[in-house]
Amino acid sequence: MSENEKKTEAALLKEKLAAKKPSGALKLDKETIAKADEFCDGYMKFMKTSKVEREAVRTTEKIALEHGFKKYEQGKKYSAGDKIYVVNRGKNIGLCVIGKNGTDNGVRLVIAHIDSPRLDLKPNPVYEANDLAFFKTHYYGGIKKYQWTTIPLALHGRIVRLDGECVDVCVGEEEGEPKFIVSDLLPHLDREQATKPMGKAIPGENLNVLIGSRPFNSDNESEQVKLNILNILFEKYGITESDFLSAELDLVPAFTPCDIGFDRSLIGAYGHDDKVCAYPGVMAAVNAETPDSTFITFLCDKEEIGSEGNTGMQSTFLNTFIEDLAEADGNAFRHVMAKSTCLSADVNAAFDPTYASAFEANNASYLNGGVIITKYTGSGGKYDTSDASAEYMGKIRRMLEDNKILWQTGELGKVDGGGGGTIAKYVANYNVDVVDLGVPVLSMHAPMEVVAKVDVYMSYLAFAAFFRT
Ligand code: MN
Ligand code: MN
Repeated sequence: MSENEKKTEAALLKEKLAAKKPSGALKLDKETIAKADEFCDGYMKFMKTSKVEREAVRTTEKIALEHGFKKYEQGKKYSAGDKIYVVNRGKNIGLCVIGKNGTDNGVRLVIAHIDSPRLDLKPNPVYEANDLAFFKTHYYGGIKKYQWTTIPLALHGRIVRLDGECVDVCVGEEEGEPKFIVSDLLPHLDREQATKPMGKAIPGENLNVLIGSRPFNSDNESEQVKLNILNILFEKYGITESDFLSAELDLVPAFTPCDIGFDRSLIGAYGHDDKVCAYPGVMAAVNAETPDSTFITFLCDKEEIGSEGNTGMQSTFLNTFIEDLAEADGNAFRHVMAKSTCLSADVNAAFDPTYASAFEANNASYLNGGVIITKYTGSGGKYDTSDASAEYMGKIRRMLEDNKILWQTGELGKVDGGGGGTIAKYVANYNVDVVDLGVPVLSMHAPMEVVAKVDVYMSYLAFAAFFRT
């Protein structure tokens, strides 16, 4: 009796017709899992030096240079196999490899964002209250404010002095450096606070960051603690209080990326959203063979606040670069875009058994389930989203199957549970086929987010396969 004869008719029909649920990492062999772990060592190193967008650009530029990429020169003639990169205002970087067919069949785009939710300093940040010195902050992106109290924070960013000199700041990351903190009320005295809804318990104006407590000296002057801080900042950076007006300073969690779990299968880090797609996109670009069609891995900024501004995806920067490439090939930009395809490389929410009711289990992504394709994001009745076509979904699905990449599909939570968006819709507006493909994240937008190593590696394989299309 053969194997098949043992199975019932229903079992055989089920095998033929019903979708197979991905069994996640169980499906993978030991060798693939070892490769995923090794790939993630590189990712964790990248994360250490890429907490804010300027740093992610610098780290990426370094990787690009190490792999033979050269800064793009407008008007220069490029040919198949040439590796070039472009930088926009220190906050976007695009890595491009010229294909054998150039832009004739469109370009292949992998676009991830390198900004993450955080606390930005207000333009007039420094103040003193009851002999303590603080920074006033204005949060950036979607945060649950209570999560940002009583955790160690580091200060990152750039100050431009009145004399035009740029001063880069990074305090709180190295061993022995001071860190900063937002205080919270002790449970003994929180009776009023504890009755408030979670979203209102910590107002934005309470996210004040403690930066010092000692006076400058014993002179009978007011605000001596603030003065002492200003003096320390002047000695270290040559800045005065008004230089904060021309600065971009962000407070981010001072956590180092780390393995999570006894089995070390997961990574805890600040800013997985969306560096966990940016890094695989970068590595897929630098490790690629000469492609048929020119491809670009592009890292954008301002996704967390609606892709606005000249470094967000609503800016013309990337399009202008593609237009340059198109013109060099004698192609019209609009024709190139119409034939182009894009993976909006962004994360989705991983199913959390503790908060299962927020998800619809048949249409959620799971840790270790592989890359997640999100056909549409948005909210309510599919508002504010670019819904990928059946044809494009079919194409990407085939690509993943052909390359034996572990993958899954899902929505962002329950239909009326909330919602969110990505850069996909802004790219789609240029008549480009685009779908979201990325890594499932647990505790998204929290100071420490969690991803599975296997999923990170699968996204790398997916982007690499996409560049071969
Ligand atoms: Mn994102
Ligand atoms: Mn996000």
